[in-house]
Amino acid sequence: MREDELIIVLLGPPGAGKGTIAEQMVRAFAVEHFSTGSLLRNEVEKKTALGLKISQTLAAGGLVEDDVVNELIGSRVCRAAETDCARETSALLLDGYPRTVLQAKWLDVVVDGKVAVLCLDLSEEEVLRRLGKRRVCEICGKIYGQQASGNVCTCGGPLIRRKDDEEGTIRKRLEEYSRSTAPLIDYYEDRCVIIDGSGTSEKVAEIATECFVKWNIKERRR
Ligand SMILES: [Zn+2]
Repeated sequence: MREDELIIVLLGPPGAGKGTIAEQMVRAFAVEHFSTGSLLRNEVEKKTALGLKISQTLAAGGLVEDDVVNELIGSRVCRAAETDCARETSALLLDGYPRTVLQAKWLDVVVDGKVAVLCLDLSEEEVLRRLGKRRVCEICGKIYGQQASGNVCTCGGPLIRRKDDEEGTIRKRLEEYSRSTAPLIDYYEDRCVIIDGSGTSEKVAEIATECFVKWNIKERRR
């Protein structure tokens, strides 16, 4: 980690739009985005022993254990600081981590407390409504919020409902969220900005942008 680097944590229930806002912020600001979900899915695809354990946990709608995720994130945070691209960035954007107060405490130790938090707030009914409609391309992994015409991706791949978007699984993820992750809002206290996630993506992006400017995150050079 460099001295001037800030970790920005995105919080919010599944379906609150964390992925969308992360994409928008990465386009506008010199930040690097770590999605824990894709880090974990990578591990699953590589079919490592760790990956197998992760896939069983995810399929059951559970949370991957603290030490597993801490290790994955810790090595990514350190590696990013060494790469060329890190010199161009002034923040790391974490999405899907930390998910528990224990993980948050560990992260604070690793980065010396330099953590700012954006929380997208969304009701359970709205989460179920949104995720019920969500489809993902089986080939390229692109996510669609509404069913695309003909149920086909722009790449030609078929759109499917991801296993962790099925209603029973979503309810389990919501329970996990309110039990394990929601307490993070209290943990972070005044380091956490809460945004109404039910607004349009433009409105959410506008508020997030104000926060990034306030936190002195460099704009991306064009
Ligand atoms: Zn596709």
